[in-house]
Amino acid sequence: MFFAKQKLFILVLLIFLSCKESIKNQSSMKKTVIAHRGASAYLPEHTMEAKAMAYAMNPDYIEQDLVLSKDDVPIVIHDIYLDDVTNVATVYPDKKREDNRYYVIDFTFDELQQLQVTERFDPKTGKQFYPNRFPKNKGNFKLHSLAQEIELIQGLNYSTRNDIGIYPEIKNPAFHHKNGKDIAKITLKILSEYGYKTKKDNCIFQCFDAKELERVRKELKSDLFLVQLIESDEETKQLKHFATYADGLGPWYTQILDKKVNGKWQFTSLVTDAHKLGLKVHPYTFRADKLAEFSSFDEMIQVLFFEANIDGGFTDFPDKMVQFLANK
Ligand code: CA
Repeated sequence: MFFAKQKLFILVLLIFLSCKESIKNQSSMKKTVIAHRGASAYLPEHTMEAKAMAYAMNPDYIEQDLVLSKDDVPIVIHDIYLDDVTNVATVYPDKKREDNRYYVIDFTFDELQQLQVTERFDPKTGKQFYPNRFPKNKGNFKLHSLAQEIELIQGLNYSTRNDIGIYPEIKNPAFHHKNGKDIAKITLKILSEYGYKTKKDNCIFQCFDAKELERVRKELKSDLFLVQLIESDEETKQLKHFATYADGLGPWYTQILDKKVNGKWQFTSLVTDAHKLGLKVHPYTFRADKLAEFSSFDEMIQVLFFEANIDGGFTDFPDKMVQFLANK
């Protein structure tokens, strides 16, 4: 009787431990959805509206690209220029530089808030970049700061009892340094003030400039989860060095694809090499309206997430990616 009870106890213990292990495995296999510039397929990129819509689609993270204003406020905008997403050319025609472009860094935060934001277009032709997205020059959209966006996301985390993270990228730190500005330092300070200090704090910090990201870890002593963005094949040779300061890699998805053999994709060694070094892989950008190599958006997600084994991805269509992954 005693032994029977003991056996039963051991059996229950083993079942409990194996369940715990499988839950752990599942969570480590959980794929990460990053709302690229918000729900940018449906509303002008990096507007508060695009961020609120993205939030409602329940991604894991919402992305913020950052450029400093003249008065050192991190502005959520994709480029150091203003003229392809705002009406700056009509509001401040005299403030363009010799190259005919308008720079975020030449305007104070107050001046920037006078501008209307619109769907991305080519400033030379005026043509909308994605013709089937939100119509150009419609609605009333404004630029905003990193702090304002964090307050939106943290406020929604509070009111919805959800916990969606932020995924800030400092743009062109070398350009900022040349203009006497330290965008990394200023951004890290704001993140810290809002509680984003360590890898546990639901914030991933990304940058294309490897020197600057290394500086963020080693000189500025950040404990945040760091993702090294890359775009060239040359950079894929430096993975070992990236792993000395970064936690993840953000490649262009085509750097993972090799070629198709008998209708089946073959992959480069990028994802396995990165995983061996302990780096998570979050490629950009999944766009249902710009598929190129794939016949459908679902196929693109299936191939990259489950055949190439990436850990997450940046998408303009967070709703579609969340839905596909929920059905797996
Ligand atoms: Ca970005």
